[in-house]
Amino acid sequence: MIKGKHLIDGTWVDGPSTFQSTPVQGTSHIIHNASSNLVGEAAQAAHNAYQNYAFTSSSSRAQLLRSIASEINKRGQEISTICEQETGLPQARLIGERGRTTNQLEQFATYIEKGDYLQRSVDQALPERDPIPRPELRKMMRPFGPVAIFGASNFPLAFSTAGGDTAAALAAGCPVIVKGHPAHPATSDLISQAILSAIIKCDMDPGIFSLVQDSGVKVAQALVTHPHITAVGFTGSLQGGKTLFDLCNQRPVPIPFYGEMGSLNPVFVLPESLDKSAAKIAKGWVESLNLGVGQFCTKPGLLILPEGNKGDEFISTVQQQLEDVSANLMLTSGIAESYWHDVEKIQTVPGIKAIFQSKAQAASASPNVFSTTAAQWLQSDILQEEIFGPYAIIVRTTDQEEMLAIANHLQGQLTATIFLEDTDHETALKLLQVLEQKAGRILANGYPTGVEVAESMVHGGPYPASTFMATTSVGSTAIQRFLKPVCYQNIPQSLLPQELQD
Ligand code: NAP
Repeated sequence: MIKGKHLIDGTWVDGPSTFQSTPVQGTSHIIHNASSNLVGEAAQAAHNAYQNYAFTSSSSRAQLLRSIASEINKRGQEISTICEQETGLPQARLIGERGRTTNQLEQFATYIEKGDYLQRSVDQALPERDPIPRPELRKMMRPFGPVAIFGASNFPLAFSTAGGDTAAALAAGCPVIVKGHPAHPATSDLISQAILSAIIKCDMDPGIFSLVQDSGVKVAQALVTHPHITAVGFTGSLQGGKTLFDLCNQRPVPIPFYGEMGSLNPVFVLPESLDKSAAKIAKGWVESLNLGVGQFCTKPGLLILPEGNKGDEFISTVQQQLEDVSANLMLTSGIAESYWHDVEKIQTVPGIKAIFQSKAQAASASPNVFSTTAAQWLQSDILQEEIFGPYAIIVRTTDQEEMLAIANHLQGQLTATIFLEDTDHETALKLLQVLEQKAGRILANGYPTGVEVAESMVHGGPYPASTFMATTSVGSTAIQRFLKPVCYQNIPQSLLPQELQD
């Protein structure tokens, strides 16, 4: 049963007004809007809980994470049903995403139990050192404090209320306040019920998790500027992320803002690879482009393709494959509206050629793919922006130099892909040297959609893919975003955090 309220300090509370949720299909729900006062109450509860929660053992936090996973699984069917109505995403995809979400929680549990994340180090005292004795120094990573989390509409489970950011922050020892995404408020409500149930079972302070819901931007802004908030985890659009990032920097005390935003995810098809496998690569690319109606942050939206017969064959295959892709509902009618608006804008760019065009429909999207020359792409800002949905641009290049010029011109990306054969290695090496400065993850002979949850994963990249390129939002090392090093100099053993004692 949906509560439709805010979860603050273990209690479901009303807000000053309500909004009606707008599911893609099925039942709509009345959801309470929050206010700055309610944000203040959630932040105060998180602040109060922080002192104790930060000193809980890794094993008790691991137990909490596993319990959240189990409570989510218990409500699995209800979550999938509501989430399907709210997002239009099919059940099979949502079951898979739930598995990914609970797997992330369990992976963080195992990771913190190992203890390496604390990065402990000890420099013994050297009292006899001449001329200045050395004090005893001990260092370890400690949790920041309360963290605000914003999830994206396209991953209503894995990048939302109990998604990777929440799991990482709770694992680190930071209380969390989630601002629910207005595209799936009932899903956030159900997941929050699961989290509360786990908190009660594990006998934790309920202030460590709050959910506030809102249909506007004021509550989000009150949250990131609240003095008790010490960091923000955000997944969403560049526009939303940039607004909140700027607010974090303008605070009297600026705080880290970990924004995971959009990306073009360029794919470079090198000549020998094109010669050998044009049709095969084209088919895989069309499939990856249309996954989830193109609503993936890792959608390969830019393809760099050599001119010539083989490149033309690639394009013919793309056209044939796209004929079979049907229109599908997008996550919200607003996202569909933006998609068609942006696709229309692309057609006004001089020198643009349609490879495959479809007609605008309300609430749904179907593919639109265009092509242009390297020279045109390099001078057009519009062509270098992400369009969320099944859109892509193919840039035809005449030689290696044009490919490298495009690579050098790229802004920060989540991923970059190279299709290559042995004889392409010389160009591939030159590209790699550029791409490692541009993207968080570089792939060979694969497609970027599908982000493995693993310790070696990097899901992030230079701005605007993310606001902080030295980290990742997926995989166990994402915990480091919510930890800071503290050095304890000559502090008596018994006063040190337990994990730093001998
Ligand atoms: P979004 O519109 O930016 O929404 C994300 C969250 O931010 C929502 O809670 C939204 O609430 C809030 N928000 C947005 N603008 C705001 C503002 N100006 N002030 C205050 N709050 C604001 O993003 P989305 O449409 O849900 O997600 C799609 C985007 O996310 C795509 O660009 C996709 O590439 C990206 N994405 C990135 C990743 C990644 O890992 N890098 C993963 C998934 C998706 P309101 O709607 O109430 O404003």
